[in-house]
Amino acid sequence: MFPRCASCRRWHWYPGPGCPCGHDGDFEWRAVRGRGVIHSFTVVYRAFLPSGSAPPYTVALVEFEDAPGVRLVTNLVGEGADTPRIGDQVVLSPTVFETHTLPTFALERDRLIGERQP
Ligand SMILES: [Zn+2]
Repeated sequence: MFPRCASCRRWHWYPGPGCPCGHDGDFEWRAVRGRGVIHSFTVVYRAFLPSGSAPPYTVALVEFEDAPGVRLVTNLVGEGADTPRIGDQVVLSPTVFETHTLPTFALERDRLIGERQP
């Protein structure tokens, strides 16, 4: 879910105190389908912190199909996560831990099937 201005219907992420249209916090949280495209990404080969994720892993900026302008920093998981391309379609694929869940994303299967064709 992401906040959307109840007046101008503009999506916001991260949530702020108000909307540029002049409304001051009259946001409604709306569900999105969890589908988007890769706006940018980087593959990390060296751990930032010893306690962090084991490299290599991919950090991506995903733009949502049904929430224009919303871009979420996330991790790519699953097949092909180490070889993404800008513009690839992704789908929400949550990573569940014992204490919390992260909104990670996986490449759409169409992209993976397309790679196998000559
Ligand atoms: Zn607004």
